[in-house]
Amino acid sequence: MDPLEALNTIASEVRTCKNCSLHHTRTHSVPGEGPADARIMFIGEGPGMNEDNQGRPFVGAAGKLLDSLLEKAGLQRKDVFICNVVKCRPPGNRDPMPDEITACGKYLDRQIEAIQPEVIVTLGRFSMNKFMPGAKISAVHGKASKVDGRMVVAMFHPAAALHQPALKPAIEQDFANLPRLLKLHQEAAVEKPVKPTSEIRTYTDIVHPDEPEKPSQMTLF
Ligand code: URA
Ligand code: SF4
Repeated sequence: MDPLEALNTIASEVRTCKNCSLHHTRTHSVPGEGPADARIMFIGEGPGMNEDNQGRPFVGAAGKLLDSLLEKAGLQRKDVFICNVVKCRPPGNRDPMPDEITACGKYLDRQIEAIQPEVIVTLGRFSMNKFMPGAKISAVHGKASKVDGRMVVAMFHPAAALHQPALKPAIEQDFANLPRLLKLHQEAAVEKPVKPTSEIRTYTDIVHPDEPEKPSQMTLF
């Protein structure tokens, strides 16, 4: 199936999905959006009130901040794919539960498989945990890690930066560093990313943008 067709199929399944209890309280599910050939995929936590109303990801206050952060990275929203770990709003914006993340993870895995992004940026701990179980966001944020052959960069969630202004410089710096990580990724000979699976994932920190560039580290990519 071609990537666009695959994404459209996933989106239509998500719109009518009843695979977890979040379907009871949603107004609209939010499959995610962006080009099928996006090179970067941003994965947030789950829809909030505005997203639930509109059926689109990151359209509220956190979305406005995300737009300005993307700009800092020289990116435009239309060029990247944006979605969430769970596609329906957890009531009252509570944390998504493990069974909901598992149920909805099948859609996220299929989205990754269709798009085959070069880089995945996780926003917040729930999406970080999918790729780097047990990692501490305060330790790994802004670093490029290799997960299943693909570059994954964990970032703080934009909403966290709105609630805790002390986090804002870090998230801004991490986005500003993204172009450098992307360039590193392009320059190094990368094996074709392997398909995401639900197997246990391992990750290795390879490059932190604040550290001097070491050729031995870069060859990992
Ligand atoms: N927060 C998220 O994690 N996702 C959205 O789509 C909006 C806010
Ligand atoms: Fe289905 Fe995901 Fe919505 Fe749960 S959150 S009902 S699994 S689309």
